[in-house]
Amino acid sequence: MRMARDMISVEEAQDKILSYISVLETEAAAILDSLGQVLAEDIYAPFSVPPLDNSAMDGYAVLAENTRGAGQASPKVLKVIGQVAAGYLPSGEVGLGTAMRIMTGAPIPSGADAVAPFEDTDEVQRLPAPLTHIAILREVAKGANIRRAGEDIAVGELVLGQGIVLHPSQIGILASLGRSEVRVIRRPVIGILATGDELVELGETLAPGKIYNSNSFSLAAQVRRYGGVPRLLGIAKDTLSHLEAKIKEGLDVDMLITSAGVSTGDYDVVKDVLAAQGEIAFWTVRMKPGKPLAFGVLRGGGDNRVPHLGLPGNPVSSMIAFEQFGRPAILKMLGYKNWAKPTVEATLEEPIKNSDGRRVFARAIVTKRQGQYFARLTGPQGSGILTSMAQANGLVVVPEDVPKVEAGDRVKVQMLDWGEES
Ligand code: AMP
Ligand code: MG
Repeated sequence: MRMARDMISVEEAQDKILSYISVLETEAAAILDSLGQVLAEDIYAPFSVPPLDNSAMDGYAVLAENTRGAGQASPKVLKVIGQVAAGYLPSGEVGLGTAMRIMTGAPIPSGADAVAPFEDTDEVQRLPAPLTHIAILREVAKGANIRRAGEDIAVGELVLGQGIVLHPSQIGILASLGRSEVRVIRRPVIGILATGDELVELGETLAPGKIYNSNSFSLAAQVRRYGGVPRLLGIAKDTLSHLEAKIKEGLDVDMLITSAGVSTGDYDVVKDVLAAQGEIAFWTVRMKPGKPLAFGVLRGGGDNRVPHLGLPGNPVSSMIAFEQFGRPAILKMLGYKNWAKPTVEATLEEPIKNSDGRRVFARAIVTKRQGQYFARLTGPQGSGILTSMAQANGLVVVPEDVPKVEAGDRVKVQMLDWGEES
């Protein structure tokens, strides 16, 4: 990697970063922990779901032909031979002139070919007397209200193929097949190291001139949100030796993220440490906020190589740069195929200036009215104003070659609160 300060586009930076990122190995995970992970095995059904024909309603299992001509004025009275609840097998067989009381989910007794729901019988008008007979008040068709064995999943069927992302419904399917564990691509562990002499940890007293370390927490939350496991590594002082020691501590991870120390002021310290420990590139990315960015590969133990993403220090810049660079790296490690941020087209409700030829990511509130998206800014856009990020549900993207967008213009908006696509 060349040690140069190139001015590059967001896409170039993304491509370079992703070229150093690989899909991680697989692991066995408890199904609930696998939410959002990529399936690493094919799941075939060891049995059918449902396993037996069963009732879709509370009612009476009957022979459909016994209900022919049934109506309010012409009830068909059948002898009740027993009842069956969900979880039990029916004892007895339904034949001509008989019926079995049945609950939703209970297996259909042999002989029966339909279920007459309670509301089509005189069940509700009855006294709580032993039920010897039931009047059917409406015809039922053959097969009515019966869920067929295997109608959801047939034995031997490929139910979930490797490569899909596990959402709640897929986790439910795994459980319905009796699987408590599943093989998935493991989650990346992301080390998060804040840098700066002005920072203090939560719980410490805030001396004059100091600020709390908020970046580590917003970044860790972003890591977790996109499926990674954050590991907080604390704060490194703006000195060579301390930064070096903290980075060494943090090399047992799949990727290291640092915040701050990459802008012109203190950039040299970080650069020297990183250059000594691995390969490093410093870039100026044509974006706003989040211009300074460092990316490199650190030498861990043995021949271990740890990608390192050095984000800017301003709280909004670090979050937006994470969205553009950290998020795709995590999704790639997780085995996702698509790491494009979900995007909509919206009508802008106020102008945005773009004076210095960078791609602007403006914090915006996106609303939908009459089927159309509209976007307005969250107020002052300073890169230290974290509340402007907190109000936003989207980032309006103004291209680098567009000096101004006007109210009424159509713009692309990256949605911050939409789920990931696999
Ligand atoms: P720097 O990149 O070191 O020049 O920092 C840019 C700005 O971000 C400064 O105002 C820092 O105080 C602020 N900053 C840096 N790190 C953090 C952090 N972990 N939490 C909150 N603010 C930070
Ligand atoms: Mg600093």
